[in-house]
Amino acid sequence: MRAFQLGPDGQASLREVAVPSARGKAVLLRVEAAGLCHSDIHLIETGFSRPDHRPFTLGHEIAGRVESCGDDVKGLAVGDRVAVYAPLGCGKCATCDSGSANYCPMVVAGDSLALGIGADGGMAEFVLVPDFRHLVPIGDMSAVAAAPLTDAGLTPFHAISRSSRLKAGGAVTVVIGVGGLGHLAVQVLTATSDANVIAVDLRQEALDLAVRGGASEAVPAGPGLEKELTRLLGRRRCDVVLDFVGAPETMALALAVLAPGGELSVVGSAGGSLVMAKSPGQTKGVQVTFPFWGTLPELNSVVSLAKSGSLHVETEVLPLDAVSEAVMRLKDGSVTGRIVLVP
Ligand code: NAD
Ligand code: ZN
Ligand code: ZN
Repeated sequence: MRAFQLGPDGQASLREVAVPSARGKAVLLRVEAAGLCHSDIHLIETGFSRPDHRPFTLGHEIAGRVESCGDDVKGLAVGDRVAVYAPLGCGKCATCDSGSANYCPMVVAGDSLALGIGADGGMAEFVLVPDFRHLVPIGDMSAVAAAPLTDAGLTPFHAISRSSRLKAGGAVTVVIGVGGLGHLAVQVLTATSDANVIAVDLRQEALDLAVRGGASEAVPAGPGLEKELTRLLGRRRCDVVLDFVGAPETMALALAVLAPGGELSVVGSAGGSLVMAKSPGQTKGVQVTFPFWGTLPELNSVVSLAKSGSLHVETEVLPLDAVSEAVMRLKDGSVTGRIVLVP
């Protein structure tokens, strides 16, 4: 089968590999759709993956159809359509058992994190999911819409669910970066909270997408950004910032616009860092979190939200054979919403 792999030399390319077979609790899926995430670009560009994990197939946002099941698989039949919860975890501890493999304490720096991140993922004709409990039924939902829910939908949903400030209500919330994750963050906020959402992005198409998703304001990033945000927010500033870029300038901006008691959730991995000091000038009571992905129960909630019509994933569909072009487009910043690859 064809698979888009990160090779031993760190180069990504389409290769011909063997179709795996399902044993024990494992399920072989025929991939119907795989989303392209900016984390794939980080993996390809930074060599963030460990050499001893390579080669492995990229693609951690997967939806497909059950092709075959190992003998210990329960509750699934050939032909069932599913979305994949790709974080791996150890599969044995209490955290994994509760569906939170994204925070498995047994996974240490450098371990395979997920299908598509250190272990074979879904940018291929088939993918082997090691445990049937990682599959969420999608019924007749389109695979193109379902695949991005597993990360671009789930990760913002998790960040939003963790926020006590959003639960308290009336939170003025700034979303920085309205790409694959950010455009769904705006929609999740609109569907699950009463937040007043202000979106920030470099690109006009992304800002338009944010407004369609429910943002009340959309502000272009650039030299005048902080001034314009400060004008919009007024003296009170904002309660929550969700940063889907994570660059030095976006994280600095976030701290500058947060009100006392505010929350900053850094999701993006664009190399930023924060220096916070306990000084009189420091905004009081600010909390910073670095959420990672989401939990299996949350993925079920995200799929339900999409089935109810509250989430609309903006997608561009390309054949798997065009994956190199897709990678270049995402890198150049010319994608609106999510590119989804179809084998
Ligand atoms: P994307 O490329 O689809 O979207 C990024 C958006 O940010 C684009 O619309 C772009 O125009 C905008 N942007 C870039 N620089 C900006 C700036 N300085 N100011 C304002 N807007 C800016 O990317 P994505 O797939 O949505 O991923 C976003 C980030 O989240 C990536 O760094 C990715 O690796 C990371 N990520 C983290 C997790 C996690 O669990 N923490 C999960 C998935 C992705
Ligand atoms: Zn991702
Ligand atoms: Zn575990």
